[in-house]
Amino acid sequence: MVLQRARNAGVSTCLCISVEQKRINEVLALADAHDDVWASVGVHPDAAAESLDWIEANLSHPRVLAVGETGLDYLHDITNEAKLRQQQAFDFQLQLALKHRLPIIVHTRNAQADTLALMGKYPEVEGVLHCFTESWDMAEQALEMGYYISISGIVTFKNAENVREVARQVPIERLLIETDAPWLAPVPNRGKDNEPAFVADTAKFLAELRDTSLSALAAQTSANFNTLFKPS
Ligand SMILES: [Zn+2]
Repeated sequence: MVLQRARNAGVSTCLCISVEQKRINEVLALADAHDDVWASVGVHPDAAAESLDWIEANLSHPRVLAVGETGLDYLHDITNEAKLRQQQAFDFQLQLALKHRLPIIVHTRNAQADTLALMGKYPEVEGVLHCFTESWDMAEQALEMGYYISISGIVTFKNAENVREVARQVPIERLLIETDAPWLAPVPNRGKDNEPAFVADTAKFLAELRDTSLSALAAQTSANFNTLFKPS
């Protein structure tokens, strides 16, 4: 099974990400059933028009470590009305993160200035920019705000030099690694459905890119996860 393959590949902890209300019970059930799986609760920018009322009640679930994923995605030509809705949903989830003292998982694409502006409204909130594909300039500003940068399998793709540029420079104590499963399987499994076991391939690639050992990188990114998300 997927989880056993992850464990065999050396993946010690999984964080199962919520993106919409429809599947939150599946997310929480997975985390309830497995000691090495945790959960987040939130609404993805693509679903920002949906209800947000259900989020807060689920934040007290004992397996929930974070709010999100939330954020802004302007990749496809979207209307000003849709952008505003995304901003309101992101702002609301930042407020929940602040209120419940939980870190936030931020999705951002083609929306650098607006994302940073909203993050800057809540300086006490910690979090991560997940599946990072934006500029080093944005990464630097997020790092200054105390955020972590999470690198997905994209870093192994031939045309992803901008992601490699960021992945080389993020301070090791602020670096996280993720799958963004089921999308973006890293080389050598590119094109397949992604799954947690493949994060080991991304880690190996990153260790070589940063000229460090896989064991050192794995130990540090696991420690970073524990510092930010505080599983217990
Ligand atoms: Zn995302």
